[in-house]
Amino acid sequence: MGKMAQKIGADTFSFFTRNPRGGRAKAINEKDVTAFLSYAKEHGISELVAHAPYTLNPCSSDEGLREFAKNTMQDDLIRMEYTPGNFYNFHPGCHTGQGVEIGVSETADLLNAILTPDQTTTVLIETMSGKGSEIGATFEEIREIIDRVALHGKLGVCLDTCHVWDAGYDVRDDLDGVLAEFDRVIGLHRLRAVHLNDSMNPRGAKKDRHAMIGEGYTGKNALLRVLCHEKLRHLPFILETPTDDNGHKLEIGMLRASAL
Ligand code: FE
Ligand code: FE
Ligand code: ZN
Repeated sequence: MGKMAQKIGADTFSFFTRNPRGGRAKAINEKDVTAFLSYAKEHGISELVAHAPYTLNPCSSDEGLREFAKNTMQDDLIRMEYTPGNFYNFHPGCHTGQGVEIGVSETADLLNAILTPDQTTTVLIETMSGKGSEIGATFEEIREIIDRVALHGKLGVCLDTCHVWDAGYDVRDDLDGVLAEFDRVIGLHRLRAVHLNDSMNPRGAKKDRHAMIGEGYTGKNALLRVLCHEKLRHLPFILETPTDDNGHKLEIGMLRASAL
C-alpha cells in the first residue's frame, strides 16, 4: 500500500483494517510490518488513517451487533500498535430507533471498553451526514461522545467534507464559520484528519453520496480552500472519491497543481 501511495503521488493513505464489510482479519506478518515501517520512513509516508469496517455499528439496538463492533475494534487497536502512532477512524454508528441520546451513550460505552492508557493510536470519530439514524452529524453529538469517554486524550475527530456538507454545514460558502463552530463546540485541536470528498447532493440532503472533486455541489474551489486552509493544511487528507487508483492519481495531481 505504501508503494501504491507513492506511485500515485500521495504521502499518506487510508486502509481498511480488514474486509470493509467486517469479518476475520489476516494474521499480522511481522516481516511485512518491518518492511513497511522502513519504506514509510524512507519515503516520508506519515500518519496513516486506518478505517474501521463501515458495517460496524457501535450503537445498534441489537446487543449482539454492538458486541461484534466492540470485539472487532478492540482487535483492530491491538493490530494498529504494530505501526505505532497512527490514526484509527470509525463511524460513530446508527441508533436504529433508540434515539440519539442512547446512541451517543452506547458509542461512548464502547470506546470506554476498548481504549487503553498505553495505546499510541489515536481513535478518530468521523463526522457523519445524518443519513438514516446516524449519530455524529452535528458537532454537538460528537462533543457529547468525547465528554463521556474517560480516556478522551486518545480521541480525535476526522472531518469528512461530504458528510458535513450533507449534514448542513456550509463548507462551500462559509468555511471559516464552520471551523469557528467546530472550534467552539469540539475544539480544533481535536481535528486530526480530513476526508476530502465532493457531494452528489445539495447541502443538508443527508444522503452521503461522494462525488469526484469538482463534480459535486461543494465544488473544486471550495475543496481547495479546505485543503489549503491555514488551520487544516498540516493534517492528513484522504480522498474517498468514487474512482480507482489511477483516478486518484489524477485527482492528487490536479489538487497539487491548483493548491493555493
Ligand atoms: Fe468513513
Ligand atoms: Fe469518510
Ligand atoms: Zn461517506
